[in-house]
Amino acid sequence: MKKISIIIPAYNEEEALPMLYERLRKLMDQVTNYEFEILFVNDGSKDKTLSIIKALREKDERVCYVDFSRNFGKEIAMIAGLDYAKGDCVIFMDADLQDPPELIPELIKYWEEGYDDVYARRSSRKGETWLKKFTSKMYYRVLQSLTRIPIQKDTGDFRLLDRRCVNALRKLRESQRCSKSMFSWIGYNKKEVLYERDPRIAGSTKWNYRKLIDLAIDGITSFTTSPLRISTYLSIPTFLALFFYFVYVIIKCIVTSTFIQAYQAIILLILFFSGVQILLFGIIGEYLGRIFNETKNRPLYFVNEYNGEKEKNEN
Ligand code: UDP
Ligand code: MG
Repeated sequence: MKKISIIIPAYNEEEALPMLYERLRKLMDQVTNYEFEILFVNDGSKDKTLSIIKALREKDERVCYVDFSRNFGKEIAMIAGLDYAKGDCVIFMDADLQDPPELIPELIKYWEEGYDDVYARRSSRKGETWLKKFTSKMYYRVLQSLTRIPIQKDTGDFRLLDRRCVNALRKLRESQRCSKSMFSWIGYNKKEVLYERDPRIAGSTKWNYRKLIDLAIDGITSFTTSPLRISTYLSIPTFLALFFYFVYVIIKCIVTSTFIQAYQAIILLILFFSGVQILLFGIIGEYLGRIFNETKNRPLYFVNEYNGEKEKNEN
């Protein structure tokens, strides 16, 4: 029987856990042709989350957990989940039931059809402010415009990943993680499933705008070095301005047969040196970008199939 690991990062989720477990248990009773594992990653919760998980494990062998020594953040909890999951595929879910477990059979169906990364796309987001919806939409736009790798819009972390995607993700061991961009980066066969995102069932969101901004910056900077290129691009108009102003001043001096004026010389000097400086910054940025990419130590590629056999990414 194939095994499915449901990975759930949990941080101060004592109120949501009992309801979450109930919904999952119902689901597991329905889907009988698979073995299930519910893997909680307790991300340094300060409330009774851990003892609730332990109690659930007493009742139900299928509940497993990884307990962190402190709060490391959801991204790190997710990679730990991947490291400890034993399933042939994993499903990421939030603890707050914003991702309906009832969608899981559909995810599994597409997995059985041969897709490696079945991700749930939100068709609506109930209980979230327009500002959050708007900023998240803009963020996808910006991220996509900075890179050539296609990024899935309006997807959270609710998705099913085949074992080989899990193994691929486990090879990306950088510390400032942005799962969203990593899911895109590894590639493989992706399939979209639409769903309605429910409001959080209990407790309060662990996110605030500072965390979201941090995540957004990590996402962009861990994914692409193109912001470093801003300098290089800025130097081009500066040098063009220098050139045209220089030609203009020389011609004016010749035509009116006057000497070059002090203010004109100053403008020319400013344009010249700022151009040189911006260009040098750009060059440093280019090298910095290369160092950055190399120090990530990522494998250079993953193989989808070899001689008709699916590559499993095992070491
Ligand atoms: N979470 C976590 N560590 C954190 C913050 C959040 O493991 O430092 C978990 C949280 O328990 C939940 C999931 O990440 O299962 C999503 O968090 P939340 O619902 O607060 O985020 P939102 O849905 O508002 O983006
Ligand atoms: Mg939530």
